[in-house]
Amino acid sequence: MIYIGCHLSVTNGYEAMGRTMLRFGGSTFAYFTRNPRGGKSKDIAEEDASALNMLLKEHSFGKLVAHGSYTMNLCASNPATRSNGLDMLKKDLERMEYFPDNYYNFHPGAHTGQGVEKGIELIADALNLVLTRDIRTTVLLETMAGKGSEVGSRFEELREIIDRVELREKLGVCFDTCHTWDAGYDIKDDLDHVLTRFDKIIGLERLYAVHFNDSKNPLGSHKDRHEKLGEGYLGTDAMKRIALHPALQDKPFILETPNNDEGYQKEIRTVLSWME
Ligand code: FE
Ligand code: FE
Ligand code: ZN
Repeated sequence: MIYIGCHLSVTNGYEAMGRTMLRFGGSTFAYFTRNPRGGKSKDIAEEDASALNMLLKEHSFGKLVAHGSYTMNLCASNPATRSNGLDMLKKDLERMEYFPDNYYNFHPGAHTGQGVEKGIELIADALNLVLTRDIRTTVLLETMAGKGSEVGSRFEELREIIDRVELREKLGVCFDTCHTWDAGYDIKDDLDHVLTRFDKIIGLERLYAVHFNDSKNPLGSHKDRHEKLGEGYLGTDAMKRIALHPALQDKPFILETPNNDEGYQKEIRTVLSWME
């Protein structure tokens, strides 16, 4: 069994997202910790936070997978962008303490011309500055499609980041199925092999969450355009094999498919039907 849910908006508060997900029939969700493009965040009310925490417990939710802002780039060539990213990460992790023991996922970054190695170095430096022993959040690096100068489209790159981080017990990986496919890993016809490679390079014990998306583009396209489940190049059978794979059980699966509320509810129902 997996936990299934989708991205929700924090507009009406935190507990409201939990209620929405119950109505959708899911058991986890993701939300942007701040405006994904603008970078602003909303204040958290103590009562709202504890109401959500209670709801999560009462209804046996899986871990939440909060998502950092797209504008956060820890390895940008521009030092101001970098320090702004560091600031966002630091504040996001402070705020995550309102919802202890959940996950915070972010895009490792884009090296913007400095090269992958420099990018890896800068990302790890940033993590070493903000991670502390006391945080109760596990920070997840997302597997990327390799669009532009994105770092993290190869498992080796994520491994290198993890290796350079001192408090690596606080670190994990979020496996985005659209991105991984776009990066060139054949999770449609060779899922076992891809997961074996993930295990060898990073270790499956570091795979904490899945972003569950079909892709609008063929294997290795490096495009990063998500598609509804079963309507893209991965297709229903492959998505089903992923959701039922023994190595991925008990993990939160987050839909980031192009859907409205109704579409998400339908996809959640579909995934639940696979598990019956
Ligand atoms: Fe993402
Ligand atoms: Fe994703
Ligand atoms: Zn994406």
